[in-house]
Amino acid sequence: MSMVADNVKAIKERIGQLCVASGRASDDVQLIAVSKTRSLAEVEQAIIAGQTAFGENTIQDALTKIPQLTEAGQKNLEWHFIGHLQSKKSKHVAENFQWIHTIDSLKLVQKLSAMMQKHNPTCELNCLLQVNLTGEESKSGLPREQTIAFLEEVLKLDLPGLAWRGLMTIGVDNDEYQTRKAFSNLRKLRDECQQRSGLKFFDQLSMGMSGDYAMAIAEGSTMVRIGTDIFGKRK
Ligand SMILES: *Cc1c(COP(=O)(O)O)cnc(C)c1O
Repeated sequence: MSMVADNVKAIKERIGQLCVASGRASDDVQLIAVSKTRSLAEVEQAIIAGQTAFGENTIQDALTKIPQLTEAGQKNLEWHFIGHLQSKKSKHVAENFQWIHTIDSLKLVQKLSAMMQKHNPTCELNCLLQVNLTGEESKSGLPREQTIAFLEEVLKLDLPGLAWRGLMTIGVDNDEYQTRKAFSNLRKLRDECQQRSGLKFFDQLSMGMSGDYAMAIAEGSTMVRIGTDIFGKRK
């Protein structure tokens, strides 16, 4: 068994334990293996260990893997786009991905809906709003106070091809206090969005990476995005 496969198994087990420790079912949190910058061969090692959900943050990198794996018969994989997306590249997300975690503009929403209708009309793209809860200007995402209004606006537009599923955020490097506060606030905001919109399936919280996923699970995360702990340090 490869190191990658061993890591996938160990992290799945740890996620299960963390869920139980916070009073949740052991399969409550989905592991997304962040395969950005990794080779096709490394992704295949994770697949051998039973991993099916993968995260990529650029179209260019994703297109060196997704079509190849689909052609090789890997049809049950679930691809999550987790990077900043320029709306002109929406077509590739519509064609290759089932989830996008980084919605933060109306222009992007409109383009994604148009591309879904044109290139993938029988499917819906699962969408998460990215929220910037730490105020760092280097980070994308909607400010907290604009998130509910943004969701109401996109629901009013009622654009086909998109399913509104929840929220995503990124913690602060080496700042446990700020990160925990951000995770706790994202959960409150998700609950508010769900109440205000009445959307039963607006239930996802994408939060937690290699350095902070234990805390994220304790704060209610439903999807953790883990790269380094599975594949090793990125070059
Ligand atoms: C790279 C990345 C991750 C994974 O980070 P690790 O620290 O390697 O686990 C998670 N989320 C996003 C948005 C990323 O860009």
